Amino acid sequence: MPDDMVDAHIRGVNHALAAGWRVLERGGSSLDAVEEAVVIMEDDETFDAGRGSFLNRDGRVQLDALIMDGATLRAGGVGCVERLRNPVRAARKILSESPHVYFVGEGAEKFAAAHGVPLCGNEDLVIPREVDRLRKYQTELAQRDAKQDGNDLFAAPSSDDVTISHDTVGAVALDRNGNIAAATSTGGTLNKAPGRLGDSSLIGCGCYADNQSAAASTTGWGEPIMKLVLAKWTADRIAAGNLPEWSAQEAMNYLKQRVNGHGGIIVLNPEGHIGIAHNTPRMAWAYKTVKYQQAGVVREN
Ligand code: ASP
Repeated sequence: MPDDMVDAHIRGVNHALAAGWRVLERGGSSLDAVEEAVVIMEDDETFDAGRGSFLNRDGRVQLDALIMDGATLRAGGVGCVERLRNPVRAARKILSESPHVYFVGEGAEKFAAAHGVPLCGNEDLVIPREVDRLRKYQTELAQRDAKQDGNDLFAAPSSDDVTISHDTVGAVALDRNGNIAAATSTGGTLNKAPGRLGDSSLIGCGCYADNQSAAASTTGWGEPIMKLVLAKWTADRIAAGNLPEWSAQEAMNYLKQRVNGHGGIIVLNPEGHIGIAHNTPRMAWAYKTVKYQQAGVVREN
């Protein structure tokens, strides 16, 4: 996250926090709270979710999202959708109104439309900042290729290049009935191949919630995270009796050591203990309890 984007990120996560808190305060469910928090960040162009997301290789926005309810283990996910401003709304409809758990592409968009979630054009999700970013990135790749006579298959920036930012959004919440929930939404990685799906919307990878363990949401390069099923891995540490704070940090160590991955995670257990960790230089986060509220872009555990 470049210096000049720090304030926008802190503002964005604070707005999301306020939206989620409003739901909880009036007695709403953790599921509603995470949905509302994520919608705010999907609508905020600062983040890689909804409008303003990173573009894929073809210059299109392709979005993934998942929402999960820790009380019932019901989940709803969408992958590679191109015509939804708020993919988490479609995911929520799948959770609540479908016997299925996951829809992709056009089928997901049709399901969403049939259940009252409005569709938009892909061009409505694309902003000039991202057109520029993609153009620069592709030019750099072409220059590197030319220097290597086009022969070096590994000339593309590697997945552990921490200078490439990740801006997936996520939320976890605990409501007054003791239920936890999680949601994650993303535009994925810059210049991804069309049809590529990351960790964010896969159950247990980028998002997970179970009242018997924890609610978790991750960000970072998706391929390493998926290989470790990282959100579920973290929840399992908590089910085994560890605190979220420790488990979140352990998840980042595991990600780095096992697959040289980088990213971040937010975790919450049904007792209200939280864990926030990242092994990137920065990750925007915010939390609120009845007693405390805090936000930042660096988390020291
Ligand atoms: N995890 C996301 C993905 O790989 C990217 C991100 O977190 O920014 O699709």
